[in-house]
Amino acid sequence: MTEHLPSLDPSDWADFRASAHRLLDACIDHLSNAGDHPWRPVPDDIRTSYTIGPTQDIDSLSDRLAREVLPYGVGNTHPKFFGWVHGTGLASGILSEMVAATMNANCGGRDHGAVYMERAVVDWARGVFGFPDTASGLLVAGTSQATVIALAAARARALGPEVVAQGMGGVQLVAYAGAGVHNAAKKALALLGIGGNALRLIPDGSEGMDTEQLRNVVARDRAEGRVPFALIGTAGSVDLGRFDNLDRLADIAAAENLWLHVDGAFGAWLAIAGEKWEGRTKGIGRADSLACDFHKWMYVPYDCGMVIIADETWHRAAFAARPSYLEGQTRGVAGGDPWYCDYGVDLSRGNRALKVWTALTAYGPEQLGAAIAGNCDRAAEMGALVTADPHMALLAQVETNLCVFTADARLSHDRQSALNRQIAQDLQMSGEAVFSTVDINGVTGLRAAITNHRTRPHHVEEAIAAVARARDTKDGDT
Ligand SMILES: *Cc1c(COP(=O)(O)O)cnc(C)c1O
Repeated sequence: MTEHLPSLDPSDWADFRASAHRLLDACIDHLSNAGDHPWRPVPDDIRTSYTIGPTQDIDSLSDRLAREVLPYGVGNTHPKFFGWVHGTGLASGILSEMVAATMNANCGGRDHGAVYMERAVVDWARGVFGFPDTASGLLVAGTSQATVIALAAARARALGPEVVAQGMGGVQLVAYAGAGVHNAAKKALALLGIGGNALRLIPDGSEGMDTEQLRNVVARDRAEGRVPFALIGTAGSVDLGRFDNLDRLADIAAAENLWLHVDGAFGAWLAIAGEKWEGRTKGIGRADSLACDFHKWMYVPYDCGMVIIADETWHRAAFAARPSYLEGQTRGVAGGDPWYCDYGVDLSRGNRALKVWTALTAYGPEQLGAAIAGNCDRAAEMGALVTADPHMALLAQVETNLCVFTADARLSHDRQSALNRQIAQDLQMSGEAVFSTVDINGVTGLRAAITNHRTRPHHVEEAIAAVARARDTKDGDT
């Protein structure tokens, strides 16, 4: 009788296998021809067809996934996608995501393969950045979430573990960061009840944040009864790819008894990019915590970030709390301490470690590091092309992998800004290249953040030629 009970498993695995193989081929075709697939708007009829409707058999559903879903990504797999800071994915991700979906592991804890793999990934990263062997780490959705976890640990150290139960009791904590800090820091402070306004922005000096001014502001906060608790260093600012001098920040954090958190979302990975670049991250291993992403400059498919906490005590103080139904055991599935639910917000967690482990095993830090260094070379090449153009101009020096420029420096600031915005949109719509925009010193410039291992020198040349063409057409219009 039981075979007549309804089941969510395929009624015919052979049919499922044939459909899945066809879909896998479509995915591989798509990625192996990434240059043919720029961003394009989702056509109206396809968008409306996404409304949840009647069921479909797996065979026609697979075809629909290939035809009506696969083509309408963000475009960040394309070699001329430079917008924002978007990771570009890896073929190894097709393999790891397939296996992860099949295993469907819940990585909140317990004793199973994915948990050991996450430990291996964190161990490896700890070694790369020079954190002590006792540092704890967790894979999370991204640097935004990692920042919340890091600052929660910092708050527990500043106010004692009681803060978790009792709240802050009116104490005004204050944090400090350079002017180019990512908004994720403010969001984290807001979420932790410290308040976004508790983030003091310190203007830039010659090497990132001006540390003279920092010390003055800290002293003033103390004198006025507030409690300075965290210093946030940036390793790779989102607007220009700038770095704070992390060694100097570590000295100040030690002297002022501040928790040093480093936002290294993408820039931390310069640590594996070879001699020319690794110096930028010097001192990163002296931080109390680090937040970074695997999904940006390590190219791993979304989503995957990581937090490392140098002293596990504060990591646990902020998050460990297990009721009896989650009690650990010495043997069986309930073994495997530490459990990752004791290190963060989530209890149920997907298998993020597998895609990182697969990428590290397929390409190794050398190849990944070479791709990162290559991205900086592409940004420098773009900078040189901009400088060589009679009318374009850089809006800031190319420091690492970001190139921010204006298409026509002859125009007034307002007209440059309008032109650059239009060019960004036109090139996105035509599929020629994706730049984003950013405001630098009163001008909205075109911004290329190159975290794209598919970008070759000719792609950079074509993209800048497209900007020049778009500008010259516009100039003809006016
Ligand atoms: C992207 C970014 C963040 C936010 O990280 P998510 O992974 O998007 O949550 C924080 N800081 C910097 C410097 C970034 O580039």
